[in-house]
Amino acid sequence: MNDIGFSYEFFPPCNLTGERRFWRSLGCLEVMDPTFFSITYGALGSGQENSLSTIKHVVAESQVPVAAHLTFEGSTKEEINAVAKRLSEMGVDRIVALRGDDRENAADAKKRGPCYQSVPDFIAGLLEIYPFDISVACYPEVHPKAKNADADIHQLKEKLDAGANRAITQFFFDLDEYDRFRDRAASAGITSSIVPGILPIRDFTKMTQFAGRCGTKIPQRLYKSFEPAIDNTELTALIAQREAESFIDQLIDRGSNHFHIYTLNQTIDLRQCVEQAQRMAPASQAANA
Ligand SMILES: Cc1cc2nc3c(=O)[nH]c(=O)nc-3n(C[C@H](O)[C@H](O)[C@H](O)COP(=O)(O)OP(=O)(O)OC[C@H]3O[C@@H](n4cnc5c(N)ncnc54)[C@H](O)[C@@H]3O)c2cc1C
Repeated sequence: MNDIGFSYEFFPPCNLTGERRFWRSLGCLEVMDPTFFSITYGALGSGQENSLSTIKHVVAESQVPVAAHLTFEGSTKEEINAVAKRLSEMGVDRIVALRGDDRENAADAKKRGPCYQSVPDFIAGLLEIYPFDISVACYPEVHPKAKNADADIHQLKEKLDAGANRAITQFFFDLDEYDRFRDRAASAGITSSIVPGILPIRDFTKMTQFAGRCGTKIPQRLYKSFEPAIDNTELTALIAQREAESFIDQLIDRGSNHFHIYTLNQTIDLRQCVEQAQRMAPASQAANA
């Protein structure tokens, strides 16, 4: 028995084509026995109510546990607590607790009533509602708005000390950056599990724009691999598959045993990686003991 795990992140679909893609991808990934599916909240332009109705359907249709992302920025405590309560009543016992980027509505929320001020504060509130399993976000290449790398790690430590069970990273492609991040986390006394977030690249141009906003470096090797396939969706998908597999292999060698895949609602067949991770588990866990 080992604790190798793969979790897959989805965003709520907003039209019929999106719905078809969402359910096709969820169905394909379900058979790989994931640790959980996570559903974003208000990200990528999807509405927050849309997130709740998607979660409700996934809970009804799938045996895989669901982790609901929740962001407190833009809501009062009362509003977001009511959402957390609804989730617990739906049978959702995992939350990815986040600040969110809804700064425009944050000022309005403050006029409506008291608001959470920080993620640790939010985690404390969530744990009063239900004993949720809580994941938080972390940033191997430092959050673009953080004062500096030390402040960013300090914030992560506070979130874990407040009761979060693990941290899921922003997507990254540079393993040296990841190693340095893990060293900083260890020096700050962080012992909780850090789960690498992996983005299979489906649209290289869009990915570079997104990476620019997140401060994620794109190694030259990815330009070399993806640029020749830029107008070829099928070839891009094949390269993405190969890149993701090789990336996960290298993370397994570094002792990672849980991988969070940003699916963007696309299908990716990581069966080989899952099997490889299972085979390597006793060796890498012994090396980490
Ligand atoms: C795994 C994962 C899942 C996500 N899911 C969603 C989602 O479903 N919906 C969504 O809307 N967003 C999502 N996000 C994005 C997230 O909401 C943003 O990155 C947000 O800016 C920070 O959220 P946090 O919970 O990490 O905040 P925090 O822990 O508060 O911040 C992280 C770091 O950024 C710094 N920081 C953040 N904002 C500021 C600021 N205004 N001023 C100064 N420093 C700041 C903090 O000081 C800290 O160093 C996700 C991110 C990740 C990595």
